[in-house]
Amino acid sequence: VINLMQVSKSFGSTQVLKSIDLDVRPGEVLVLIGASGSGKSTVLRIMSGLETADTGEVWVNDVPLHESRRAKEIRGHVGMVFQQFNLFPHKTALGNVTLALIKARKMAPADARKRGMEALDRVGLADRAEHYPSQLSGGQQQRVAIARALAVEPSIMFFDEATSALDPELVGEVTEVMRGLARDGMTMVVVTHEMGFARKTADRVVFMDKGLVAEQGSPERMFANPQNERTRQFLQRVL
Ligand code: ATP
Ligand code: MG
Repeated sequence: VINLMQVSKSFGSTQVLKSIDLDVRPGEVLVLIGASGSGKSTVLRIMSGLETADTGEVWVNDVPLHESRRAKEIRGHVGMVFQQFNLFPHKTALGNVTLALIKARKMAPADARKRGMEALDRVGLADRAEHYPSQLSGGQQQRVAIARALAVEPSIMFFDEATSALDPELVGEVTEVMRGLARDGMTMVVVTHEMGFARKTADRVVFMDKGLVAEQGSPERMFANPQNERTRQFLQRVL
């Protein structure tokens, strides 16, 4: 579903991605790991059409995102979850989930509510639909953000450090929801520092180093037997 071919990206004089090749297959859970500044978020932003590559080809669901006019096409078909939940404080959980359906999709409010409730149910929060963000824990707020992304029925979900802002005891409920999506066959690209999640849920782990894909493989192989010296050093620091 996703195919990056020789993708490069610079910000000013800094080359952030250096001719990257990367593919994601339907139903696959790809976990991106690597040091700060290695280019993980940039890869995610390019795959989701938020950023365009300078050179190379980016195909997502057969749409050539490298043709810059077309980068927008994919945005309504993918879900993004970030470290910051970015919920509207004056809207309920359900209100947050249905907003894009009503405003961008022009869905009838009743249909949006139905779709929104299904999404909240999927993240285990149907009973919190009328709560405001301030009445929810961080983990619950992030699950609402996941429901909001799911409500548009995306074909791919992107997670960029979705659990990094959470207290440690709240991480598990969010990674459980993510594991559920993976089990249901969702195609997912996940940037995370949660090596437990990578180990248990990833189909493939990609280690990025200074704008390059330094190494990739199954989680079993990557964690037990990293080939690349930089991967080894990185894993030693985070495991
Ligand atoms: P982290 O783990 O800290 O989130 P990352 O692997 O996600 O890091 P990126 O956010 O992709 O890394 O950034 C890679 C490099 O590109 C960094 O040096 C960053 O400062 C730079 N960068 C990213 N976005 C921009 C931007 N919009 N303008 C300028 N520089 C940027
Ligand atoms: Mg990042």
